[in-house]
Amino acid sequence: MSDKLILVLNCGSSSLKGAVVNKDNGDVLLSCLAEKLNLPDAYITFKINGNKERVELSDAPNHTGAVGALLQELKKHGLDSRIGAIGHRVVSAGEEYSESVLIDGKVIDAIERCIPLAPLHNPANLLGIRAAQEIFKGLPNVAVFDTAYHQTMPEHAYTYAIPRKYYRELHLRRYGFHGTSYRFVADETARFLGKDLKSLRLVIAHLGNGASIAAIKNGQSQDTSMGLTPLEGLVMGTRSGDIDASVYQFLADNTGMGIKEITDVLNKQSGLLGISELSNDCRTIEEEAAKGHEGAKLALEIFTYRLAKYVASMAVAAGGLDVLAFTGGIGENSDVVRAKVLGYCEFLGLKLDNNANLAARFGKAGVITTADSPAVAVVIPTNEELMIAQDTALLSGL
Ligand code: ADP
Repeated sequence: MSDKLILVLNCGSSSLKGAVVNKDNGDVLLSCLAEKLNLPDAYITFKINGNKERVELSDAPNHTGAVGALLQELKKHGLDSRIGAIGHRVVSAGEEYSESVLIDGKVIDAIERCIPLAPLHNPANLLGIRAAQEIFKGLPNVAVFDTAYHQTMPEHAYTYAIPRKYYRELHLRRYGFHGTSYRFVADETARFLGKDLKSLRLVIAHLGNGASIAAIKNGQSQDTSMGLTPLEGLVMGTRSGDIDASVYQFLADNTGMGIKEITDVLNKQSGLLGISELSNDCRTIEEEAAKGHEGAKLALEIFTYRLAKYVASMAVAAGGLDVLAFTGGIGENSDVVRAKVLGYCEFLGLKLDNNANLAARFGKAGVITTADSPAVAVVIPTNEELMIAQDTALLSGL
């Protein structure tokens, strides 16, 4: 085993998030966030040893410029020679890969082929990969896909009930996302409870700005709430989640909006934000709901009711429910959301322990059901960076 560090990169179309991770204990030695890429005032912020530093990217306000600035920062702190490999979060591998892979020309071609399935994300992920190859010459690069973990879903779970030819011709099916988080939390839940993952009928709710839920049986994903895109499923910060597909026609007929505008409404102006007419941030929603804000109260009710319905449907996919795990910013911190969901799900054998629920926050794992509860609910903080770092180290032989 080497003591090399892993650089983890997560690129969006105008942003780049980076972290230098110790693969053995998950420590983050340096992190960075580049914003406004491809605009003249792009900049990158570094965090190291509790200090923040901002560097303007005026010479090269793009992904390559950001990765170049990151290399300079690493040099400044004597960390550049300690980087052994680079792990990239890549959103969609379609049906091409069910595991992480060392990046070569064939993998790049596959990520390109999957662009129609993730038109906003895969091109940005490719920019990050190309920038890393150019700036960190000779280092291995690994792709860790959001979709990979759900490739074990059975056909009846991933197939939409529309003409089959669209699947055959266009690969139109349900893929699911947040796979890296689910893989980490599934392992961690089993470890935390001292159980064999394969013996657990496990449902995991990953609740962040984007939110989804997955069913795991025999250690494998059986179903998940996101589909072809991350729009399907739960109510999220700004996404509607499940909706009657005819809403498109209705809105087009009655507002004159086009398909792209309606997609924008459903992805960016809906969910907690759309219902509350206040905020997409769950903390704000909870605070305002407690003060009596009607929109915030309704948003919280819809969010938790829909989530609870999905817990029950995922219990079908898992063949029962032994453990429900909460993760993501909301899952890890919101005792209010967890209590409401467990309130709905008592019939599934989940008995809430109020004190334990209040205590599980700020990155602390914990069981939040009573000792005599037939099924168990836990809070398990996720760590996607560590999962990416570990895959990257393994595939790079570090
Ligand atoms: P992302 O999907 O962007 O990674 P996170 O996993 O960080 O998002 O989750 C962000 C969400 O977590 C926000 O809605 C935020 O309000 C919520 N959150 C964070 N802390 C709390 C808290 N103490 N109580 C309720 N919600 C919280």
